[in-house]
Amino acid sequence: MKKSLVALAAAILALGLVACEAPKPAVKTVGISMPTKSSARWIADGANMVKEVEALGYKADLQYAEDVVENQLSQIENMITKGVNALVIAAIDGESLSSVLQKAADAKIPVIAYDRLIKKTPNVDYYATFDNFGVGVLQASYIETALGLKDGKGPFNIELFAGSPDDNNAYFFYDGAMSILNPYIESGKLVVKSGQMGMDKVATLRWDGATAQARMDNLLTKNYSKEKVAAVLSPYDGISIGILSSLKAVGYGTEAQPYPVVTGQDAEVPSVKSIIAGIQTATVFKDTRELAKKAVGMVDAVLNAKAAEVNDTKTYNNGVKVVPSYLLIPVSVDKTNYEEILVGSGYYTADQLK
Ligand code: BGC
Repeated sequence: MKKSLVALAAAILALGLVACEAPKPAVKTVGISMPTKSSARWIADGANMVKEVEALGYKADLQYAEDVVENQLSQIENMITKGVNALVIAAIDGESLSSVLQKAADAKIPVIAYDRLIKKTPNVDYYATFDNFGVGVLQASYIETALGLKDGKGPFNIELFAGSPDDNNAYFFYDGAMSILNPYIESGKLVVKSGQMGMDKVATLRWDGATAQARMDNLLTKNYSKEKVAAVLSPYDGISIGILSSLKAVGYGTEAQPYPVVTGQDAEVPSVKSIIAGIQTATVFKDTRELAKKAVGMVDAVLNAKAAEVNDTKTYNNGVKVVPSYLLIPVSVDKTNYEEILVGSGYYTADQLK
C-alpha cells in the first residue's frame, strides 16, 4: 500500500514536471520607450505602436519617461533585464543611450530608433522617421508663400524658433527651413530684427512651450515696440502655442493687428483648432499610424532575421555609422486642407476638432 502510494506520488510529480516542461508558445515582447505624455503626438505614437505590435502577435511593453533622460535610461535598462526581444526607442536625448544600448547589444536585443535618431552608438539597427529636412522646408515654404516672397514682396520681419538641441531632428528641421529662408534674409526681404539665428541661439530645450513663450516675450519687448513681426518660424505645435500666447499678450490677434504667420508641426488637436479659428497659420502633419507600421515592420524583420524595408541609406549618420532608414513624407496642413488631410484620412473625427 505504502509502496503504491509512493509510486503514485512519484507519477503525479513526474506528470507535473512534464507539464511544466511542455514548450510554451514563445510570445516575443517588444519594449517601446517613448519620451513624454505631455504632447499628444507621442501618446498617439505609443497607442499606434502597441496596436501594430499586437497585430503581429507580439506583446508590447510601453513606457513613457516624462522627458527625463534618467527615467528613460532606467526604463530601457529594466526592459533589458526583463528580457524583451526588441527595443523601439524615441530618444529624449539622442546622445545619452550609448551605454544602455551596449547592454542591449550584449543581450542580443535589436534596437529600432523611432522618429528620432539615436547617436554615438553602433547598436541601433534601423531608423523609422519622416523626411525631417523636408519638414523644415514645408514650414518655411509656407511662410514664403503666405508673405508673397516669391513675388518679390517685402521686407518683412521674422523671428526664428527651433526645437530641442539634444534632438537630432531639431537640426534637420531648422536646416530645412533655413534652406528656404536664408536667401531672403541675405537679400533683405526677410529681417530677423533680434539678430538671433543659428541653433545655439534659437533652440528650445525639450521643445517646451513655456520656454518658447518666455523667449518670445523677450524678443517682442526688445525689438518690436514700434515695428510688427510678420512671421514666426515655429518647429512644433506646442512651441507655436507659447509663441501665440506671447503675441496675444502684447495685442496681436485683432483686425488692426493680426497675428503673424506662425508655423508648427504634428497637427496636435489644440493647434488644429487654433488653425481653424484663424490663430495659428499652419502645421505639418506626420501620420503616426504609418510611422508605427514602419517601425513594427522593422522589428518583425529583425526578429525573423530578415532585412527591413528602407528607403534611405545615406542621410542619418549617427556619428558611428549610417543608420538604414525609412523616411515617410510629411504634409503641410492649414485651414484650407485640414478636413481633407486630417479628417478625410480618419486621423481625427470632425467632432474632435470642434
Ligand atoms: C518630432 C516632432 C515633435 C518634436 C517634439 C521631434 O523629434 O519629430 O514631430 O514635434 O520632437 O515632440
